[in-house]
Amino acid sequence: MSNSTTIAAVRAREVLDSRGQPTVEVDVRLAGGAFGRAIVPSGASTGRHEAIELRDGDPTRYEGRGVLRAVAAVNDTIGPSIAGHADAVDQAALDARLRELDGTANKANLGANAILGVSLAAAHAAASAQGQPLYDYLNRFYRHSCVSGDPVHDPATPLTLPMPMVNIISGGRHAAGGLDMQDFLVIPIGAETYREALQMVVAVYRAVGRVLSQTGPYAYGVADEGGYGPPLPCHEDALGLLYDATRLAGYRCARDGDIAIGLDVAATEFAVSEGNYVLRAEGRAFTSVELADLLAHWQLTYPIISIEDGLSEDDWDGWEYLTGKVGSTTQLIGDDLFTTNPDRLARGADQGIANAVLVKPNQIGTLTETLETVRLAQERGYLPVISARSGETEDTTIADLAVATGAGQIKIGSITRSERLAKYNRLLRIEEELGERAQFAGRGVFARFLNQ
Ligand code: PGA
Ligand code: ZN
Repeated sequence: MSNSTTIAAVRAREVLDSRGQPTVEVDVRLAGGAFGRAIVPSGASTGRHEAIELRDGDPTRYEGRGVLRAVAAVNDTIGPSIAGHADAVDQAALDARLRELDGTANKANLGANAILGVSLAAAHAAASAQGQPLYDYLNRFYRHSCVSGDPVHDPATPLTLPMPMVNIISGGRHAAGGLDMQDFLVIPIGAETYREALQMVVAVYRAVGRVLSQTGPYAYGVADEGGYGPPLPCHEDALGLLYDATRLAGYRCARDGDIAIGLDVAATEFAVSEGNYVLRAEGRAFTSVELADLLAHWQLTYPIISIEDGLSEDDWDGWEYLTGKVGSTTQLIGDDLFTTNPDRLARGADQGIANAVLVKPNQIGTLTETLETVRLAQERGYLPVISARSGETEDTTIADLAVATGAGQIKIGSITRSERLAKYNRLLRIEEELGERAQFAGRGVFARFLNQ
């Protein structure tokens, strides 16, 4: 078998991510000369049910965090077995082959970092071979339910730019300030376009910086995702800070206003045992019900419309309670809970737990499975939120993925640090390139919660 889109060569190398940690970069060259490249991100607050990220464990290099084994899996195993045999435009068949080569349920053999690198690089090469931007190529793939290679490019299809959910204050594993909860985010629900959404967020970010600089030297450090990481004495102070800064920036912080608030509690990280949560910053311990009640209580004072990982990854009972308590008025996102895994999402949907899913391609390891999760979410009435990791790179694939799937939301971190801006800026270019075809998700994406 050979045509111009047959994969001709696959090459991986070890490069560095935004924390200076090794990660996998993969180049794919097709027989007709087209080229694709992808770099795999890496999480810090990883969930137990994620696909396996292969690390060398060799203490003489990068404190054991090298990825030469994953690189070798690409160069010595995956490459030789697919070069000359796999067609890059048949993404579903390629990804099935990659899973078969690995042979495990969680990609522990070759590593999700090796497999995802090849999967994404092949998509980039295929889009390039067909002379299409990646978002259009992936949109066709997505719409045709894993049947790719449709040569008809419809230049009129409207595509949706996602609402960004943007980290402003960081805690947990992403910052040294001591807050246990991970992300305090703003959602510019009043924006009419993606471009305007970014501008509003930057204004709030600057205002938070001004407030922080009045209270101490905290404004000058950025956390792993580019947000501020101040040593605030309690979590509610972070909410107050966002609220005050939004008003200082001239916006209305309200459910029917310009800016709403989102949280990534990342509760798995401070669960000391099942259903036992400890906020060290405040010296307080909570049961699942108490933590859910605290989150619900905050909503009486602050316009929180989205809560991610409000409880830990296997606390299904706690999640059920939280969903019953605030699920009709609040987006409840499962990150560690679902780990972009269609099986876990299906279980959640069957039990009516949460109502949204964070989508991180490296949690599951192939593009096809990532799209499966997005499709399942949309079929079951769950909102998909395409997400970066805390360890990122200049790779911008998720920006195209968000537009291609019409997911409606994206979470990339804050609006400083160029591994974040690479994606935000990619979306600005896509918005311009789409012109009349561009729609913006806007506040409508939250309609079911806001109309309550
Ligand atoms: P992670 O953080 O990449 O460190 O897992 C992102 C998140 O929890 O959403
Ligand atoms: Zn999260």
